This record gives sequence, C-alpha cells and structure tokens, in this order.
Amino acid sequence: MRYRNDLYQSTNPPEDKKNNTPKHLFIGIACAVLATASYAFFSEKTEPLTPETIALTIPDLTTKIEQTGKRDSLITEPDIPAINPIAQGSSNIPTQSMQSLTTIWREHKVKSGESLSAIFSSNELSKLDLHNIVHSNDISSQFASIIPGKSLMIGHDLSGEFSHLIYKKNAYAELKATKLDDGSFKVELLEKELDQRINTATGVIHTSLFIDGKNAGLSDNIIMQLANIFAWDIDFALNLHEGDRFSVIYENLYIGSEFIGPGKILAAEFINQGKSIKSVRYQNAEGKVSYYNSGGNSMRKAFLRTPIDFARISSRFNLKRKHPVLNRIRAHKGVDYAAKTGTPIKSAGDGKITYRGRNGGYGRVVIVQHGQKYSTLYAHMSKYRKGQRVGSRVKQGQVIGYVGRSGLASGPHLHYEFRVNGVHRNPLTVTLPNANPIQAKYKADFLEKSRILFQQLEQLGSTQVAVTNIPK
Ligand SMILES: [Zn+2]
Repeated sequence: MRYRNDLYQSTNPPEDKKNNTPKHLFIGIACAVLATASYAFFSEKTEPLTPETIALTIPDLTTKIEQTGKRDSLITEPDIPAINPIAQGSSNIPTQSMQSLTTIWREHKVKSGESLSAIFSSNELSKLDLHNIVHSNDISSQFASIIPGKSLMIGHDLSGEFSHLIYKKNAYAELKATKLDDGSFKVELLEKELDQRINTATGVIHTSLFIDGKNAGLSDNIIMQLANIFAWDIDFALNLHEGDRFSVIYENLYIGSEFIGPGKILAAEFINQGKSIKSVRYQNAEGKVSYYNSGGNSMRKAFLRTPIDFARISSRFNLKRKHPVLNRIRAHKGVDYAAKTGTPIKSAGDGKITYRGRNGGYGRVVIVQHGQKYSTLYAHMSKYRKGQRVGSRVKQGQVIGYVGRSGLASGPHLHYEFRVNGVHRNPLTVTLPNANPIQAKYKADFLEKSRILFQQLEQLGSTQVAVTNIPK
C-alpha cells in the first residue's frame, strides 16, 4: 500500500481530480476491444487496427464485383454448396442444399494453430493437390490464411477422387478450388453483391464510448472504427468527458433484404470538451484509403499519444518532482503509466531501435529513433519483444517490450519519454507532427468529394443539439 500512497496520491492529486475519468470509461473501451476482436470482419487481422486497416478489411465489394464482371456468377453451379452451407451446422452429413449428383462434401472446422497442410494430411489429401491449389493463381494463396473457427468444405467425386475445396471467408465471400482434368486447380473468389445503405447516428457520452455508442444504436464494429479514427486526437481511456458528443455517418451492408453487417464509417464528428473534430473517409485514385480533417490533414499522427493500452497515468511530466523512491527533488522527464506486469508496450511511431539494454535506474530500456528529430524512450520493462535488436525497424503500434518494474521503480509501470532534438518534452502535451497529409494532386478531388459529407455532419450535429435542447 505504501506504493499506492507514495506514487499515486502524493505525486499528482490535482490532475487526477481534474481529469476525473471514471474507471468504467476505460473498461467500456476494453469491452469494445474485446467484443470487436471476435468480430468476423476483424478476425483476419492481427495487427493493431488503424482507420486504414479497418477500411481495407472491409472490401468495397460492389466496385470489385463490377470490375471483375462477376456480378451474376455466384453460386449457380449445382455442385457448389448453396449460400450458407457452413452456417448450417458442423455435421459431416451434407445438408440438402449441399448435395449434388457429383460431389460428396465433408466439413472440416479449422482448429487453433492448424495449418492448411496439417488439415490436408489429417484428411488424407495429397501434398501435390495442396501445392497446386495454393500456387494456382494470385488469389489462391488466401487458402493459406485460413482462420480458426471457420470451415473448409472438402469435396470428393463419386469415385472418391478429391475434387473441390471451399473456404467460406465470411457471409458474402468464399474461395473455391475446383480440380481440372489435368490435375491443376481453378481457384476463384465468389462474392455476393452487397447493397450499401447509409445510416446516421448521434450520441452523448454519459458512461463510455462503448455503452453510449450502443445506446445510440451503433454496433461494436462501428464503435471500434470510431475510436480508431479519433485515436490520435482523443484518449478514450483517459480523456472522455460527460457531455462529449458524437455523430456518425456509416454504411450498413445488405444482400437483398438480409442485413450482413456494418460497413465503413464515411464521416464522423466527435466533440471532446467542447472542441469539435470532424473527419471524412477518402479513397484516392490509387485506392489508398484514409481519414482526413476538413483541411485534408490525415487523422493519423506520426506518434501515438499513449504508447500503452490498459494503463492509467500515475505520474506526469514535472521538472520539480519529488522522487517517490529517492524521496528528493528530481525532475521527472517523462510520463508514468501504471499497468500490470506484462502489458504490451508499443512503439509510439515508425523508427529504428537505437538502444536496448539495462541502464541503471531505468532498468530494461528501449530507445527508438524516429528520423533525425525525434526519439522515444521506454523504461522499467520486464522483458523485451523477441526478435528485435538494436538496428531493428519498428512500425507505429508495434510491440517492443512489456511492462515491468526493473531498475528504480516502486511498482510495475512504463516510464515514457519523448525527445525533440534531444530535449525532453511533455509527451502528453507536445504537438505531434501529422502523418501523411493528403497528396497535393488529390487535394482538389478530396475537397470536392468531402464537401457534402462535412455538410451532412454539420446538419447531423445541429439536429442533435436542437433535440437535446428541447425543454421537458
Ligand atoms: Zn517515470
């Protein structure tokens, strides 16, 4: 308990009071993260989500289908399992719709850690067929990125010869391999045409982004996208305030009248402590997707404000701090985040590891250099991320180590420093450089395409204010 008294209370009571962030805001986000992690759209990605990765994870199917001319090619052949074969249970007996005159189907549910080659050998399928499928064309390698919990349908013809392999990627796309007479395979991606319908929602923060997002009718997926779009501007764990507001314009995806799931956020506004931040999704002619503010600046910053999740600030940047262990005035040139031992620590920006080792009171420390001007330091680690060394390049958000209490630390926490031209700056308030502003050649196109969305956001926001202000 001494740790608690020393470190948490004596060092920063005023800020903590002022900040006044209830724990449940944070838990709410954690719930959103967990809930979303299990969501099918995201289960194919293990990297940290960014607005870009989210947008790329949800394909623009209508365009794709139009481009490839496959509009009507879906699931019409007799030996292809009908629309939703795998969802009809894990029985090995093919359902009525899966039966055909020529193919006998067997379902294999992918287990955790199971590779396609392991599945082939457990189902007594040949290595040659596996090789021929995976190397058939440029989409066939997708068979190698199968996900645990999903199913493969294995088809044999009446003579017992392996003839088909189908992997159902999601509710609207499946990968199908068909064996040809010469022993090679034809691999195709079959997609159903999706309708994208535009929806809007607005909400006010009372409890957490997750709970109030739910109350506004948003799905976990959309809430997570929203949190990711504004992640560089708003710390949803530490800086959300009662009365903050949000407006979202997003897609819902349908096949005919059947709701498939949420699509992309097209535009969103978040008002944090009275300060409005608006953002619009834009895809340039090369297909690069990102979220931008009205000036065409990327919502992404070159650095994460907070290089750790699931943590709380336990000590701030303070050049006149009384050190909790040494008990004398010693400048605190960084921010401390109290977190459980083993919590992952992320590199705040793209860069190169220039130091990795023990350093006195810092304990196990990693320093990342970001170009000429910036460097970041992460101290008191319990261990380093495997496979990295001095000279390794790291990406923003990539894990570089884990929280611990090595060196001079009264409890497990991350000590984080941010230096500009070698000078320590407060990581919580330093102006972070933008990452990738919109390219000059796309600026005019962006301004034209985003104008209507920004107008709609404006209207949505003012409707919300009008509704909230009706006297009761
Ligand atoms: Zn510290």
